Amino acid sequence: MNTTTAANQTTAGQTFGARTVSIVRNSKGQRAAKITTTFNTRFVPVELLGLATGRDAWMRDIMVRCSCGAVSKAGEMEGEYCAACYDKAGEENAAADGN
Ligand SMILES: [Zn+2]
Repeated sequence: MNTTTAANQTTAGQTFGARTVSIVRNSKGQRAAKITTTFNTRFVPVELLGLATGRDAWMRDIMVRCSCGAVSKAGEMEGEYCAACYDKAGEENAAADGN
């Protein structure tokens, strides 16, 4: 696992129409998108953003900073990781498994 600090994995001040989105740590220490509208605030775990469909499909465009520092659209990430890190992790796992 990566142990980089939370501070460099957060983004702030993204707006989607009437919504304001920032990437934060929730009470469990998971990264989540804090989505604020005039009506309410909700938290969506980062790994779920890229799976959003229908009315929530806009969430795929939320920009998320990977632990490596790269910022990508949630819909282009693999869970919490950018494509490059995901590929790298896959190679390291394959090596560890002896494949
Ligand atoms: Zn990355």
